[in-house]
Amino acid sequence: MKVSPWQSRIHRAQELAGQHPFAAEILGFYVHVARFQEELYRRLSTALQSPAASVERELAASELSELSSRFEVFLGVSEAHGPKALAELSRELRARGCDSWCELLQTGWIAPSPSNVQELLAQLFLQPYAELLRARAPLAPSHTAYALCPFCNRKPGFGVLRQMGDGGARSMVCSFCLAEWEFRRIVCPGCGEENDKNLAVFTASEFDYIRVECCDACKTYIKSVDLTKNGRAEPLVDELASAPLDLWAREHGYAKLQSNLLGM
Ligand SMILES: [Zn+2]
Repeated sequence: MKVSPWQSRIHRAQELAGQHPFAAEILGFYVHVARFQEELYRRLSTALQSPAASVERELAASELSELSSRFEVFLGVSEAHGPKALAELSRELRARGCDSWCELLQTGWIAPSPSNVQELLAQLFLQPYAELLRARAPLAPSHTAYALCPFCNRKPGFGVLRQMGDGGARSMVCSFCLAEWEFRRIVCPGCGEENDKNLAVFTASEFDYIRVECCDACKTYIKSVDLTKNGRAEPLVDELASAPLDLWAREHGYAKLQSNLLGM
């Protein structure tokens, strides 16, 4: 039986939680989120057959009614399994009821990146729907010159290096719809800097297959998961697990180009 992308990520999250105690809580939460997301994806793929295959628009009434009915379940998952602050917020949101959920989902859908924890929660919930619409859309040409998602125009959440010829080719992965597009290796996705003197790459022995790619021109960084060095990695999950690298980068004055949907 073919294993779904969510199942592969769940399996990897469980494996990494065992190896990295510091990441066990967030990965444990991710496992519950991923189970919910898989179910939501399947449900929406039959329940919402015909909406426009674009995310750069407001959600229609039919979409909002379907989504908000599931948002309550999602808030329950987050309340039961999320980190403390998120769990408390989820309980509050659950008490507010349907109208406020619709408003929050609409805001989260439009926002280029979450500006507060509520919007973060909304985007985490909406992510499978963005992925579903992208899967239905005709493939957009990859705009390798821009570090914005060719489908939904958001910033990449992380990079991936895949084997190509003798080396690794880099691509960016959208923080929202998870589209992946090729992106030149020696270019900052934050500001387009091409001078390699300003583009430093750091690694740490604990995650020797994850590159912290920093730019001294705009002082941002992004992590890229090098699949040529670790073929077992599930980039989205390994990016989450390697939180100490984020701490390191921030201590050294770099801001993350785009935080992931668990807010790190
Ligand atoms: Zn996207």
